[in-house]
Amino acid sequence: MSALIDIDNLSVSYQIGSSLFGARQKIEVLSDISLQIKKGQFFGLVGESGSGKSTLGKALLQAAPISGGRITSHITDTPLEVASLKGQALKDYRKSAQMIFQDPYSSLNPRMTIRDIIAEPLEVMGLAQSREETDQKVREIARQCRLNLEHLRRFPHAFSGGQRQRIAIARALVSEPELIIADESVAALDVSTQADILNLLKSIQSSKGLTFFFISHDLSVVAHVCDVVAVMYLGQIVEIAPKKSLFAMPRHPYTKALLASVPSLDLDQKLEPNLIEGEIPSVAAPPEGCRIHTRCPHATALCISTPPMMQQDEAGHSVACHHWATLPA
Ligand code: ADP
Ligand code: MG
Repeated sequence: MSALIDIDNLSVSYQIGSSLFGARQKIEVLSDISLQIKKGQFFGLVGESGSGKSTLGKALLQAAPISGGRITSHITDTPLEVASLKGQALKDYRKSAQMIFQDPYSSLNPRMTIRDIIAEPLEVMGLAQSREETDQKVREIARQCRLNLEHLRRFPHAFSGGQRQRIAIARALVSEPELIIADESVAALDVSTQADILNLLKSIQSSKGLTFFFISHDLSVVAHVCDVVAVMYLGQIVEIAPKKSLFAMPRHPYTKALLASVPSLDLDQKLEPNLIEGEIPSVAAPPEGCRIHTRCPHATALCISTPPMMQQDEAGHSVACHHWATLPA
């Protein structure tokens, strides 16, 4: 598989505080992130709330302040640096990379019909020549998202969470993007509806050959659909691996702890409960050395002093931990 998006040593920083009182502070929310999303892949990103997942999703759409490194898109034949896109080039890029949000209740305009909600990207981006063409594209995508065509004339309030998320998915797909960034797209749904939406996303991905960047705090959700999973902690990636390898042989203590907190996963090996305790530290003052050392039972003097490098094996399993090879399974 070839690369669709290359992220190299990416950092994102927000300025917070008031410039009026000279109390502005720069907070690095993402630090030195490198990963590759391959064409046609269902790429999963997991981590606790506040670890920077949404910020990474936004950075992919040039909607977060990049302070270092680069994101390169290979969606077009000529590679593009996402941070430097402007004007028409940025519009074209955003047409090819669409986001589906978490909350289907607030992301759909209550005063628009379902038809108009799905049609809006076509109109804004000038992707249909006539009303007939718009209607035809809307119906086609609605059908693919298993929406009842009679519902197109109704308003969002008439629908359940799962149906609303189908509408949001249809809206994201109607411009025929290459990359879908799905940020906690099933988090607000009950479990059976979650499975329904995950199956829909997966079938859309395989039938259209789309690439997904799927963000979730929930490993069991990621386990359902993703080909490759990256685990994030406090603005950094600590482990990336093909799903099978990550779930069968997690290497990072943090990944092991996340897995141990998912009781429904059927794993062969025994995992220590409560491996990682306490709260995630503030991203404004991340610990020196390995960022997780304050919560890791295996931390040594080396972990306190020195950040671990990412180590990758031939099978594409990467981990950033000084001691992973000698830790208990
Ligand atoms: P996640 O999606 O993993 O829960 P986020 O990417 O939303 O994490 O947030 C990561 C960190 O960045 C948090 O500490 C959050 O407070 C901070 N953050 C996010 N957006 C902004 C912003 N616009 N300004 C300042 N800080 C922000
Ligand atoms: Mg988030």
